[in-house]
Amino acid sequence: MPQVDPRRLIPRTDRLLALPAVVAARPRLSEPVLLALVRDAQQRARNGDLAPDRVEDAVTAAVAARTATSLRPVLNATGVVVHTNLGRAPLGPAAVDAVTDAAGYADVELDLRTGVRSARGAGTRAALLAACPAAADALVVNNGAAALVLATTALAAGRDVVISRGELVEIGAGFRLPDLIVSTGARLREVGTTNRTHLRDYADALGPETGCILTVHPSNFRVEGFTAAAPPDQLAALAAEHGVPLVTDIGSGLLAADPALPGEPDAATTLAAGADLVTASGDKLLGGPQAGLVLGRADLVATLARHPLARAVRADKLTLAALEATVAAGETPVGRALHADPDRLRQRAERLGAALGAPVVPHDGRVGGGGAPGVPLPGWAVRLDEAVAAPLRTGTPAVLPRVHDGACLLDLRCIPETDDERLLAVVRAARSAPGPTGPGADRTP
Ligand SMILES: *Cc1c(COP(=O)(O)O)cnc(C)c1O
Repeated sequence: MPQVDPRRLIPRTDRLLALPAVVAARPRLSEPVLLALVRDAQQRARNGDLAPDRVEDAVTAAVAARTATSLRPVLNATGVVVHTNLGRAPLGPAAVDAVTDAAGYADVELDLRTGVRSARGAGTRAALLAACPAAADALVVNNGAAALVLATTALAAGRDVVISRGELVEIGAGFRLPDLIVSTGARLREVGTTNRTHLRDYADALGPETGCILTVHPSNFRVEGFTAAAPPDQLAALAAEHGVPLVTDIGSGLLAADPALPGEPDAATTLAAGADLVTASGDKLLGGPQAGLVLGRADLVATLARHPLARAVRADKLTLAALEATVAAGETPVGRALHADPDRLRQRAERLGAALGAPVVPHDGRVGGGGAPGVPLPGWAVRLDEAVAAPLRTGTPAVLPRVHDGACLLDLRCIPETDDERLLAVVRAARSAPGPTGPGADRTP
């Protein structure tokens, strides 16, 4: 009998596209995506990496594993609350529902009673003003950087932005606020020094060329020792005297002071001290979606909203919905993680540690996201061997631990208690995954 080329046994494309799993996947995956999965399995069989009689199973598995988005949910076991690499703030349930409701057609710019066009995101604006009565008006844009760009463009393009040399901040991944400001066509008028800037430094710099004074919260670092900054109320009085707007970038988006974060500026206090505009992010300590907030004087907010650039940085309906729901709910996952009770964290860690036969060690969480640098959030972590970190990251759900000092640390601060069982299951699976050092290799002596 002549030998059959095994490649001739590879199932044909039309047969694979008719597999039940492929048919069931049609509502969520397009024909080209399904075809690519089929072709990939066929190619692996042609290369000899897959037996021809395994191709159908491989396609079924590939289709099942292929989610609608490549973004995977992650259990954040780092203890870093606002983790930029994990998408910053996780949304609370009300915000998630709001996003779902807004996903279809929604009255984002329409008054349904009259049938005429209305201001975009009026409900979000109202929620922000209710939560921050010190603001006369509010505008939501794409992110904190966009809020800053819009403010400096609308108030100071072609003119001076007066800013302290101690506040020329790099906010992450090489993005520098001074570069951002200069890109708007405004000129930086740097005053003071890295560690000390006085009121008179600002006073000396003000003139007919001044577009605005900008103060920036140095959110991701601290300068200690021989330091000085102009008191905000005195700077506000100086700005008012010269008829120059004072813009303050508070970064984190706290609308009101949080006693747990004494060094963190908030919009209400900053406006009460006399700032004309506050800019901030929506997805840091506010705990909402990526967004930029502009809060403050109504005439200045209107100037920004009217500027052509406002259209290029406007927030979409999903953001507006999630932000309104976040502000209205008040309570957020970020707030819960920040204020988690250390005793409760310890109990949960001990339960997990006991189930895994692993020790529990003190562990400080962090605010993260360039907020409250140096403020530790005392808590606890389950200590595993470092080798388990990689299989945890690729587990289902993915778990991001903190790898530190040759150990894999699981801090439960940012994990909802309802996920503790899931976490235990995925750690068990990761520990028995064959790795470079074999199953059970993570057992701490
Ligand atoms: C985070 C931050 C920004 C940038 O905000 P994005 O929302 O990331 O664009 C700007 N200024 C300060 C002080 C920040 O902390």
